[in-house]
Amino acid sequence: MTRLFNFSAGPATLPESVLATASQHLLSLDQTGIGVLEHSHRGDAFAEIIERAETRIRRLLDLPQDIEVLFLQGGASLQFAMLPANLRQNGQTADYINSGHWSQKAIQAALHNGKVHVAASAEDSEFRQLPGKPVTSNHTAYLHYTSNNTIAGTQFQLPPNTPHDVPLVCDASSDILSRPIDFSLHDLVYAGAQKNLGPAGLTLVLIRRTLLEKAPDSLPEILRYKTHAQAGSLYHTPPVFSIFVTELVLEWIEEQGGVRTIDEQNQAQAARLYQRIDASEAFSGRVVPAARSVMNVVFSTATPDSDQRFLQNCHDAGIVGLKGHRSVGGLRASLYNAQTHAAVDRLLEVMDAFEAETTG
Ligand code: PMP
Repeated sequence: MTRLFNFSAGPATLPESVLATASQHLLSLDQTGIGVLEHSHRGDAFAEIIERAETRIRRLLDLPQDIEVLFLQGGASLQFAMLPANLRQNGQTADYINSGHWSQKAIQAALHNGKVHVAASAEDSEFRQLPGKPVTSNHTAYLHYTSNNTIAGTQFQLPPNTPHDVPLVCDASSDILSRPIDFSLHDLVYAGAQKNLGPAGLTLVLIRRTLLEKAPDSLPEILRYKTHAQAGSLYHTPPVFSIFVTELVLEWIEEQGGVRTIDEQNQAQAARLYQRIDASEAFSGRVVPAARSVMNVVFSTATPDSDQRFLQNCHDAGIVGLKGHRSVGGLRASLYNAQTHAAVDRLLEVMDAFEAETTG
């Protein structure tokens, strides 16, 4: 079975060595005689796995001691609802930076049961650039932003400027662990696992301990960050397999040299692709160069028809997952941590051939 080059936006390609190791443990986790999917989440074997995962996250992101690491479920979408429910107190507003589709989803969820202030927005540019400097409201519970906009193809290079006393919250679903995160500036960072971390089903939440105390009494226990923090993420059965594979991915990141090395590799891959697009007459990028994402390169050919032809050429060359999101069309190449140079090489070859075919 030949594996294809997968540029999907998520669930996305994972390191091949991790998949091979994971498959070995399906029948028997280490020498336990029970497969990883069959172990109790309360047993010693899983306790070691979740502890190792937390230790590696702390090491890779250089987390301060007052940041709790929570392994939750429900995707980033559940965080859209849990966040305001836990942090926004009576009379407070929640502030959001609107940088695209997923920010809008987060805003909608927060509007459901309280006040929202949009502190900055790039909607006027159809999210082809990043929003300007945020203007926060007076009684805000937090400022939320989406560090990488998976669909629009933009990414914040630095966190937004925030007044000192306003907690900064980041949806890092599509760029977590692709680069360092400054936890002197952030108070809560969350991410669905299925792009840079591992299989779908796990949501990572990194939260400053002081924020655990803010939830109103009326909030059901399972929706409180504090419940999960106190239970060591074992309040109920956690997504054991996702955590297991994520732990292997974290080990793989450490073997690569850590987040800084991964960042350099990611930047190098993205630069090759953007340079190819910039030098081309057949392809054009969707967003302004200063806002370009290292994770999701959003581009197109001249017309939807020729996009289709290009996708067919990619398919014939063993490349999948390049179709743009239905809301923007065109093409999207996702270059998460596990993306390989070989995949980028192949894509560039197909682009060269397509350009030669269409321009001349
Ligand atoms: N935020 C961002 C930035 C995303 O890219 C996605 C998924 N593509 C989501 C949130 C929603 O994630 P989930 O499907 O895990 O709820």
